[in-house]
This record gives sequence, C-alpha cells and structure tokens, in this order.
Amino acid sequence: MKKRLYLKFLLAYIIFGCFGFLAVATFSSSLTLEHEIRETAETLYEEASLIAKTYVNDLYNNQITIESAYSQLNALSTYLSASIWIVNPSGTVVLNTLEMPDLSNPKVIENFNPSITADSYYIRDDFFGEFDEEMLSVYTPITSNYKIKGYVIIHQPMSELRKRSDDYLSITYITLTVLLFLSLIILLFFTEIFYIPLRKIIRATEQYGAGNMHYEFSVDSNDELGYLAASLNYMASEIARSEDNQKKFVANVSHDFRSPLTSIRGYLEAMIDGTIPPEMHEKYLNIVLNETDRLTKLTNSLLTLNNLNTKGMVLEMSDFDINQVIRRTVATFEGTCEQKSISISLILTGEEMMVHADMTKIQQVLYNLLDNAIKFSHNNSTITIETREKHNKLFVSVKDSGIGIPKDSLKMIFDRFYKTDLSRGKDKKGTGLGLSITKEIIHSHGENINVISTEGVGSEFIFTLAQADEEED
Ligand code: ADP
Repeated sequence: MKKRLYLKFLLAYIIFGCFGFLAVATFSSSLTLEHEIRETAETLYEEASLIAKTYVNDLYNNQITIESAYSQLNALSTYLSASIWIVNPSGTVVLNTLEMPDLSNPKVIENFNPSITADSYYIRDDFFGEFDEEMLSVYTPITSNYKIKGYVIIHQPMSELRKRSDDYLSITYITLTVLLFLSLIILLFFTEIFYIPLRKIIRATEQYGAGNMHYEFSVDSNDELGYLAASLNYMASEIARSEDNQKKFVANVSHDFRSPLTSIRGYLEAMIDGTIPPEMHEKYLNIVLNETDRLTKLTNSLLTLNNLNTKGMVLEMSDFDINQVIRRTVATFEGTCEQKSISISLILTGEEMMVHADMTKIQQVLYNLLDNAIKFSHNNSTITIETREKHNKLFVSVKDSGIGIPKDSLKMIFDRFYKTDLSRGKDKKGTGLGLSITKEIIHSHGENINVISTEGVGSEFIFTLAQADEEED
C-alpha cells in the first residue's frame, strides 16, 4: 500500500525543520548582530561621552599629564575590550591606547573625516585604514565653548561582536532543536490518531472493492474516523446481507420451480411409457394440472413482487368504502369456507367506512390474509375480520384460531419464500411470497402491518389504512 499521506506529512515536517534552521541562520543571525551592534554602540557612546567630560577635559585643561591619561584610559580600554583614541579634528592622534604616546612625532590619520558617520554616531569600517579588520567605531565630539576640539573614538573589533551574537544565536538553535523534537510528538499523534485508522479504512475499502463484503475491522475512536469506519462496516454488512438474500432468493425460486417441474415431468413420462395405465391418466393429469397451477401462482407472485419493487410507490390512490371491499373479498372465499365449515364474522365500524388507498392493492392484501387464515384454520372454526378507528387511522384485523405461528418464525414470515415448518403439511401449494407482497403494499402506502400469534392458538394480522378526509356537507 502506498504511504503517500504519511510521506507528505514527513516531508512537510522536514521542510518545516529546514526552513526553521534557515530562518534562524539568516534573519535571526542578522537581526541578532544588528541588535548587538546597536547595544554595544550605545554602551561605548556613553563611555566615550564620560571620557570626553572627564579625562580628556582634564587633559585639555592640563590638569593631568598625557601619561596619566594614557594609563587610565588604557585600563578602561582593557575593561571594555576596545581601544580608545583621542583625535583632533585635523586627524592628529592625541592619544591611542594601542601605543605609548609620542608627543614628538604624533600620529596623523590621513583623510580623517568625522562627518563620515553621517547621522549616526558609529560606523563599521577599518577606520581610515588604521586597522586590518572591520571595527565598530563610536565617535563622541569633545566640545568646549561650542567648538569641537577633538573626538573620543572607541573601537571594538566586529569579530568580537560577531562572536557574542553567535553565542546568542546558538541559544536560539538549541531552542529550535528542542521545539522540533517536541513537534515530533505531533507527528506521532498524527500517526496514532489519524494515519493508522485511515490505513485500516483504506484496507477495508480495498477488501470491499474486491468483493469481500464479510471483511470486518474496527477503529476504536469516537471521532469522525471512528464514525466513518462504523458506517463502512455497517454498509458492507448490509451489502453482504442483501447479497446473501439475493442468493437465497434465486436458490428458492429455482427450488420452487424445479419441484413442480420434476413431478410434472415424472408423471408425463410415466404416462407415456405406460407405467401409469390409461385408466389412471385422469387422476394424474389432475395432479399435473395442480402443479401447473402452482407454477402459475408462483410466477404471478414473482411478477407482482417485481412490479412492486420496481414501480415502488406508484399507487392509484382513491377514496373507497373498505367495508364493501372486505365483504366482496369474503364472498370470493365462500366456497372454500363451506368446504372446511369455517364461518367468517365481520365486526365493521359503521355501515360505510371511507379510506384513502389503492383499492386493488388493498383488496389483494385482504385476499392474501384471508387466504392464509382459511388455509391455516382448523375445520369448524371462525375467522373474525374487524375494523377499528383510532387517531384518523383505520385498523383492519384478520384473526383466526388456527395452527398459529411459532415464536421464532414470527420475525421471518414477511420474508420472501419463508414458510413455517408447521404450515408445510397444511399448505403444499404455498409459495411463501404472499405476506412479503402484503407487506410491500402496506409499506408503499406508508402504513404498517403487524402480527400477533401463538402457536396452536391462532394468529391475528393487523394493518393500518388512512381514513379519507371527511367532506363537509
Ligand atoms: P404462502 O403463500 O405460502 O401462504 P405467505 O407469505 O402468505 O406464504 O405466508 C408465509 C408463511 O407464514 C406461511 O407459509 C405460514 O407458514 C405462515 N403463515 C401466514 N399466515 C398464517 C396464519 N394465518 N396462520 C399460521 N401461519 C401463517
């Protein structure tokens, strides 16, 4: 698996580190040096002003000798790590802490020009060629009677300042390194919180993509990633379930088609090869007819289911009297009821009860429920159809006192092709599709269907319908 994201993050981290060091090495380094120059210049300027006011003043007023001024300034220069020069405006060096004063042959700085500092009081250069290296030179004028009599100039090698600024900089480098190490924690957190779960999710999607819908994985976190993983897991399990259902459906359809076909073929072959004598033909042809009935019923049910599924909500809604539909449906079962001596009792609300639904489909629901109730009822029993109004809904119940449905099967009876073991003996023609069609119809109306049943006692199917809006007189 590619580790692109992780690499990108690592790369970003390395770039961040490199840029951090580069920034410190360039910006911070020049800023620190500038700061160091300004600070040193300020200190040296104060010192130079002090020297101008004290020693130099005394020297110019002949209160101290040049030797004593030299020795005192020499001590000060060692303390400041700088050399102190006293220069006349003409460029003649009165005193220079680097050399013993020589009054007979004073040093003269060629092209001495104090205005070289422009607006500033310090300058970085080799001081008119007097030094071999770059110096920070701070100028302070010595004034008397509003006239400049000379300058106190203090020089400090720039190398000294650079060294001090580098010392400060190394502290910055250490801080940056510590920061980088600390930010590694973010990288570790990223790996733990984001990257590892993400890899799990990617691996899972690859598995799902390859068709392995049963692949399971878990991300133990309550954040969005955890939610995504749980949703993916759920999605895959739903797809797996629907695939299983699909397979089961095809297997069931094939099975339900094969068994009547096998028996039809068996009987027909037996009749052709004479195993069944001609006088028995009528009996077996009736069986064959029955089997073809079963196949027709199965095909019709499958077509109905398919139409319901594909057309979805296409319903021909109208207001109609449900009582009338119930009576009509009951009438179609009169013959069957007579055979089994089953009586149907109707407890209907009102003479007329208008509902809003697709009449043909609701008639089919009633037909399926009543058909089941009769099939699974014992002889000489009663089936009750009852309607009740509640909160603008009409509850229709079809109740029998037949074989009932085992508790474990209750959940499954609305599934396609499901038949309880109990019912197999009583209903050989059943396809197990009737109730799933019923449920689809009721649900497509936005209504509900429920079952209450006790094995050996009986079953009651209750579904709801929307009442028609009452028209004003
Ligand atoms: P079928 O066409 O086989 O009746 P259904 O989907 O209508 O299929 O019913 C599914 C199964 O539910 C039936 O085979 C039967 O086992 C059970 N069942 C449905 N209605 C009743 C009932 N009134 N009493 C007992 N069992 C029932």
